[in-house]
Amino acid sequence: MADVTPRPHADDEGSAAAAPAPSGTDPALAQVLSAKVAAALGGGREAWTRRMFEAATALRAAGGGPVFDLSLGNPSLEPPALWRAAIRELLADEPPGQHRYMTNAGFPEVRAFVAAREAARFGLPITTDDVVMTVGAAGALAVLLRALVDPGEAVLVPAPYFAEYDAYAAYADAELRTVGSRPDFGLDVAAIEAALTADAAAGGAVRVLLLNSPNNPTGAVYDATELAALAAALERVSARRRAAGQLRPLVVLEDSPYRDLLHDGSAAPSLMPHWRSTIHVTSHSKDLGLAGERIGYLVVSPALEGRAAVARAAAYCNRVLGFVNAPALMQRALPRVLGQPGGSVDVGVYARHCATLAAALVELGFALQPPRAGFFLFPQIPVAWRERHGDQADVALATALLDARCVVVPGVAFGMPGHLRIAVCVDEATITGAVAALRAVVPHVA
Ligand code: PLP
Repeated sequence: MADVTPRPHADDEGSAAAAPAPSGTDPALAQVLSAKVAAALGGGREAWTRRMFEAATALRAAGGGPVFDLSLGNPSLEPPALWRAAIRELLADEPPGQHRYMTNAGFPEVRAFVAAREAARFGLPITTDDVVMTVGAAGALAVLLRALVDPGEAVLVPAPYFAEYDAYAAYADAELRTVGSRPDFGLDVAAIEAALTADAAAGGAVRVLLLNSPNNPTGAVYDATELAALAAALERVSARRRAAGQLRPLVVLEDSPYRDLLHDGSAAPSLMPHWRSTIHVTSHSKDLGLAGERIGYLVVSPALEGRAAVARAAAYCNRVLGFVNAPALMQRALPRVLGQPGGSVDVGVYARHCATLAAALVELGFALQPPRAGFFLFPQIPVAWRERHGDQADVALATALLDARCVVVPGVAFGMPGHLRIAVCVDEATITGAVAALRAVVPHVA
């Protein structure tokens, strides 16, 4: 049986660290580290992604044939040729001073370029001052949570959700609360409104609603109708909060690093045009395949209360969290690539891999909402498995698959046991091998 025992130093998708261990802190870690980090390194449930990745690494090291590793959301498509050409041109012919410190919000001309694109995308009068360049979407979320949330306040997120949110909230000393999604993984607006209404009645601790569309792990894309319904609900909740004397506005952080990876080639709808208290976050980790280069940005809605202060605070937090500014060369490449022909990876590859695996999973009795974007699937495990293994069905199946050299992540890591998260940002041979492993494992126990 493969060993997937929790280990220290767990993280996910290459990001910083894990959330506080539900089971308590290792005293040896607590002796030398801050209490917060010692608790995080103890390994929370989101540490499963790294745990499975480490198990895959151990399998590889032991030899014995290929390992079909679908555990990490590390984009497999190379950056477009246009981006490589842009970098070459920039380095070949540049005036002095291009690699120095800059204003913490980023190069003004790059922010102006981004602002014009986002203004057109959202139909809003977004200006340079509303844009802060960040160290990826993760960097944007880190600075925004620090800028907005006080200790003891809460962040509400629909489940299932990106496992790192636990850690991001913990580092901002915020409580992460979850609310359910619809069975098709769309927004459950009624549940969100009920949760926020109950919170308002209890004093209004929720400061941020964290939305992720297109979604990791489900591949769901919130459509304009549900976003408009959410905006109406947020309007009602805000009126209730104001009536109760709760004057801090509720802010939506819209985390959208997969927004240009819709399988049908369309652009993901946004809450920005519908709700004034929205801050949009995105990056080019996925659409340009630049996850290691750390380039992203945040866009403050021009209608946000305290708009200028929030943008200023985000730039300040860029500085004091030690990011200082987003990478200079990556910033300068964006205007030469974005919106140009060939200025994106071929999402068709991810879409094909999703379709191949989806067909195999459905054939094996998994229930699946086909992903509309990105490179993740989040199928529900067949009933027979769930009846046999109960609460542990996802861990049991992930472990059985590991023995067949196929690596996936149990749904518990994303706040929804009974499911698997399968990352298809891999090559064709890995998809084929994973399908064979699933066929070998699932019928044997069904
Ligand atoms: N948000 C979600 C939902 C993600 O899946 C990821 C990365 O996997 C991030 C944020 C962080 O992305 P970035 O590389 O832009 O920091």
